[in-house]
Amino acid sequence: MRHIAIIGSGPAGYYSAEAAQKKFGEDVAVDIIDRLPVPFGLIRSGVAPDHQSIKAVSRRYEKTNQGNNVRFIGNVTVGKDVSIAELQELYDAVVLATGAPLDRILDIPGSDLRGVVGSAAFVGWYNGHPDFKDLKPSLDAKSVAIIGNGNVALDVARILAKTENELVGSDIVGHALDGLRQSKVEKITFLGRRGPHQIAMTPKELGELGQLERARPVVEADDFPEPGDDAMLEPGMRKSVTHLRNFQIAAPDAQHKPIEIVFDFFAMPVELQGDGKVERLIVEKTELDKDLRSIGTGERYELDCQLVISCIGYRTPPIEGVPYEHGRGRFANTDGRILPGLYCVGWAKRGPSGTIGTNKPDGFGVAEMIDEDIGANSRKLGRPGLDAMLAGRGVDATTFRDWQKIDEAEIGRAREGSPREKFTDIADMIAARKV
Ligand code: NAP
Repeated sequence: MRHIAIIGSGPAGYYSAEAAQKKFGEDVAVDIIDRLPVPFGLIRSGVAPDHQSIKAVSRRYEKTNQGNNVRFIGNVTVGKDVSIAELQELYDAVVLATGAPLDRILDIPGSDLRGVVGSAAFVGWYNGHPDFKDLKPSLDAKSVAIIGNGNVALDVARILAKTENELVGSDIVGHALDGLRQSKVEKITFLGRRGPHQIAMTPKELGELGQLERARPVVEADDFPEPGDDAMLEPGMRKSVTHLRNFQIAAPDAQHKPIEIVFDFFAMPVELQGDGKVERLIVEKTELDKDLRSIGTGERYELDCQLVISCIGYRTPPIEGVPYEHGRGRFANTDGRILPGLYCVGWAKRGPSGTIGTNKPDGFGVAEMIDEDIGANSRKLGRPGLDAMLAGRGVDATTFRDWQKIDEAEIGRAREGSPREKFTDIADMIAARKV
C-alpha cells in the first residue's frame, strides 16, 4: 500500500489521482485535500461560466472518486489546519496541485487605485469564488481597459460584453448577473504590449468575439504585418490572426452594435492615474526587438478608463519550506519532482499555461515518479492519521458525499435556464451538506 496526499482538487489534482489509481490499482490510498468545501478548482472557479462544455470534464473527476481508493477532503487548509511537514510524516508522497490562484503583479504606478483589479479577482467574482464574492467591480464604467492578450482577457471581455440573453445556460452567479445588468460599458480596450502575431488568444475563443449580440471587435489595419507573413505562423496562431484580420471586415449589422471591443496593439501600460479611483491609463507605444520582445518607443498617450482589469497571468503561492522559483511564480522542480516524496503538477509545476488537458500527462508523470521513488510497503499512517489529526483540531472537513449534497442544493436553487446557482459563502456550503 502507498499513501498519497494531493493538495488541490482542480484538474491537475484529479488527473494525478486518476493516474495513481490506474498505476497502483487497489494498492494505493489517495486523499485529495482542498481548502474549499467543494472540489474541482479551476473548473468551478476559473473556466468561464458560458463555457459549460469545458466544465463537463468534471464528470470524469467524479468517476475517479467512485473508487474507495480516492477520497476528497474539503474545507481543510494546508498551512493552517495541517502543515506540509505533517502531511509528509503521514503520507509516502505529497503532490502539490495548488494551481496558480494569485495574479501576476501589475508593477506600474497607480496599480493600487480603486477600479484596478486582477483577473483572479474578477474571474473569481463572476464565478462565485468565496474569496471574491464582495469584489464589487466598477461596472458603472463606460470605458474598460483589459491588460493582456491571452484567453483570460478574452473571457473577461466576453462576459462584460454579453447580454443577459447570451448568458442564459451559463452558471454565472446571481450577484455578477445583477451587477452586469447595471453595466454602462460602451468600450472595452485590450492592451497588448506586442502585435497581432504575438497574441496568446486561441482561435475558437477569439472567433466568439465576432459573434456577440451587442459588441463588435475593432482592429487597426496598420497594426498588421503583410498578409503573406501569416504563412510563417503555426496553424493555430494563423487561425487566430485570420479571425483578427476578418474583424476588419465588419458584418453590415455590426456598426449598430453599441459596445466596441478595441484591440490596441503595441501598447504598454506605464501608469494608472486618477483621484483615488482610476480615471486614465498612460500607454507607451512599443516596437519589437529581434527576439520579438516589446520595447518602449517613448511615444505616450492616454486612455480614459474607469475600470482596469489586468489579465497578465498568474502565480502559485509559495509554501514555507518548499523550494520556489520567484521569477516564474511556481515551485522549483525537475519534471514535477521537488524532492523524492514531494512533487508538483499542473500550474504549480509548469506555471500558468496550457489547457485543462495539458494537466493529464503531469498526473501520469507523477505516478511514474512515485513508483520509482517509493516502495510498495508503506510504514506511514495515511488516512487514519490525517483523520485523527483533523478531528483533534476540530476541523470540519467535507467529503465527496457532502459535495454531492451541496451540488444537488446548488442545482435545486438554479435560476431558469442555468445549470446551478453556486453558494458563494463557505458557511452556506457547509449548511447545505447537512440538509
Ligand atoms: P497568457 O496566455 O500567458 O496571456 C497573458 C498575456 O498578458 C499575454 O498577452 C502577455 O503578453 C500579457 N502580459 C504579461 N505580462 C504583462 C505586462 N507586464 N504588461 C502587459 N502585458 C503583459 O495568460 P492567461 O490569459 O492568464 O491564460 C493562462 C492560461 O490559461 C493560458 O494557457 C490560456 O490559454 C489558458 N486559458 C484557456 C482558456 C480556454 O481555452 N478557453 C480560457 C482561459 C485561460 P506577452 O505575450 O507580451 O508576454
